[in-house]
Amino acid sequence: MSSAGDRREAAAQWAAMSTTLAVANQKGGVAKTTTVASLGSALAERGSRVLLVDLDPQSCLTFSLGIDPEDLELSLHHVLTKGVDPTEVLVTTEEGVDLLPATIELARAEADLLTRTGREYVIRTALEELDEYDWVFLDCPPSLGVLTVAALTAADGVLIPLQCETLSHRGVGQLLDTVHDVRRFTNRGLEVWGVLPTLYDGRTNHARAVLDNISETYDLEVLEPPIPKSIRFAEAPAAGRSILRTARGHRGADAYREVAKALTERGSDTGSDTGSETGSDKGADRASDEGEDVS
Ligand code: ADP
Ligand code: MG
Repeated sequence: MSSAGDRREAAAQWAAMSTTLAVANQKGGVAKTTTVASLGSALAERGSRVLLVDLDPQSCLTFSLGIDPEDLELSLHHVLTKGVDPTEVLVTTEEGVDLLPATIELARAEADLLTRTGREYVIRTALEELDEYDWVFLDCPPSLGVLTVAALTAADGVLIPLQCETLSHRGVGQLLDTVHDVRRFTNRGLEVWGVLPTLYDGRTNHARAVLDNISETYDLEVLEPPIPKSIRFAEAPAAGRSILRTARGHRGADAYREVAKALTERGSDTGSDTGSETGSDKGADRASDEGEDVS
C-alpha cells in the first residue's frame, strides 16, 4: 500500500517521536515501580533517552533512584496543580534516566484536581513540554483515581505488571474497564501493550497456571520473559539504583533487558518500517519463548 518513500518518512517520524507507556495496576506490590525503574534503565543502556514520571505520592520511584523527596523544592505536584514548567522540576539520575519526582504533596494534588476542568489532560499537557525523549514511563499509584486516569490519557500504551500468585489478577477486569472508558472519552489511541508477569517463581506450576488463566480470561498479550522473583530486587532501591546496576549480570536484570528489547521492537513495528517482517502476532510471540527457564 505505502511506497518506500512513505515508509521512510514514517520511520523518520517515529524516530523523532516518543513512546509513552503507563505502568498500571491498582493493586500495590505487583512491581510497577520496580518495572518502571528497571525498564527505564535497560532502555537507557540501549542508548535511548528515557524519562520516568513518579505518580505515586509514596514516592517509591523517586527514592529508589537515589533522590530524597525531602530535599526537593519542586516536584510533580507543582507541575500538575501550580502550572510550574516541568523542565524546572526535572532531575537527572545516576541511572542514566531523567525523572519527574514525586513527594507526599502529590496526594493533595489528586484531591485538588478532582474539581478541575480538564484534569484528565494534566499529564499529557506537561509531557508536551518534554519532547526530547524516546521513552516515557508513567509509574502509576495503586488506585484507579485521577492520576491513573490522567496517566492513561497521556499514554500510547499501558503495561500491566501482574504478580503470579493466587488471585492476584482479580483487579485486572476493573483496570481494563478504566482503559475502555479512557479510550472512549479522552484517549482513543490507548493500547494495552500487555501483561508483564512479575515475582515469578518458575518452580511452581501454580504461577504458570495463574498466567494461562489471565491470557485466557482477558485475551491479553503476555510479555516474555516473566520477571523472576529474587531478593536482589528488594535490595536495589536501598542503594538508590535499579537491579541493572546493583546486580548487573543477574537473571532478573537480564529479564528486564529482554522485555526492554521486545518493547523497542514493538515500538518500531507500530510506527515505522525497520526492515523486519510485518507486525508480530501475539500468538507467535508467545510460542517462541514457551518453556524457557530463566536461571
Ligand atoms: P508496586 O509499585 O506495584 O507497589 P514495587 O515495585 O514497589 O511494587 O514492588 C513491591 C516490592 O516487591 C518491593 O519491595 C520490591 O523491591 C519487591 N519486588 C519487585 N520485583 C520483585 C521481584 N522480581 N522479586 C522479588 N521482589 C520484588
Ligand atoms: Mg509503586
